[in-house]
Amino acid sequence: MAYIKINKENFFYNLKQLSLKSGDKTKIAAVLKDNAYGHGLEEMAALAFEFGLKEAVVISIKEVKKIEHLFENILILHDTPFYHPRFSFAITSLEALKAVPKNAKIELKIDTGMHRNGIALDELTKALEIIKKRELNFFGAFTHFKSADELSSELFWQMKNFEKVKEQIKAFGFRVRFHSFNSAALLRTKSFSEDIARVGIAIYGYNELPPLFEKTKLKPVLSLWAKRVSSRKLYKGQRVGYGGDFIAPRDMIVSTYDVGYGHGLFRGNSKKPLITAEGLPILGRVSMDFITLESSKDEVCIFNNAQIVAKHFNTISYEITTALKPNIKRVVI
Ligand SMILES: *Cc1c(COP(=O)(O)O)cnc(C)c1O
Repeated sequence: MAYIKINKENFFYNLKQLSLKSGDKTKIAAVLKDNAYGHGLEEMAALAFEFGLKEAVVISIKEVKKIEHLFENILILHDTPFYHPRFSFAITSLEALKAVPKNAKIELKIDTGMHRNGIALDELTKALEIIKKRELNFFGAFTHFKSADELSSELFWQMKNFEKVKEQIKAFGFRVRFHSFNSAALLRTKSFSEDIARVGIAIYGYNELPPLFEKTKLKPVLSLWAKRVSSRKLYKGQRVGYGGDFIAPRDMIVSTYDVGYGHGLFRGNSKKPLITAEGLPILGRVSMDFITLESSKDEVCIFNNAQIVAKHFNTISYEITTALKPNIKRVVI
């Protein structure tokens, strides 16, 4: 069966590099949403804990239940708040703030310019009044950057807005934690001073900053492997797979391997096939559970760097790894 290798050494290497940026490993909150960007939630949470991280971020309560014993606090970005001493809930609107149970730990998400969700800057006073009046369990305030990976002033005006937010919250007499940095912001900064950074893609080994930035080298954690199902001889002119898109240019030995778009490998365009990590083009169309390669090895590495695959499919590394289905076996090496 196709499986995923998780390279622990590379993961720890990335966490070390990021800890140097944040000043301390306890300031790194591992973003483990969406099955840890496809890497495997429980496997990555256990490794993060082993390294000594204390903080995590997920989307849902369903996710948090699988890893709750491992962290001092887990921020839940999008689910219904309730009280738990080690879970904090993102609150992204005044309506949600009015409805939140009194003792639930909350972190206000402030919209400093991304305009996806969050409390608007001109709603902040109102939000703080509600918190004060209802005596809510106000634990943190955060924002998210829309273009931390771009060489423009956008990041800096968002940061400036967030500084004003901090002042306003402090002026109200609240003492809460503050966080705004994602991977790109942390990788480009030279002066990190917030309470935590919410780091996703970088812990998995991808530095998505454009080449102009001074690059922290990171190492991809995940590789996708498939096993040989059967081999056959193709005679020149014989065609392979659905539609027969690949035509053997000569007699050749090919094998079928047990991975396909059903596992989350992109089907793409058979006229421009993906080249595997070992340099083999996929022959013809990707099936739901199988691909064909000119190889007779028992096991092949499909990819070990999602950035290369992303370039091929004209997307981002996030989408390539997150597409990998949870039912693929994850093996930590
Ligand atoms: C996904 C997410 C992150 C992590 O972003 P990366 O670019 O992967 O580091 C941080 N904060 C929030 C709110 C997110 O949704």
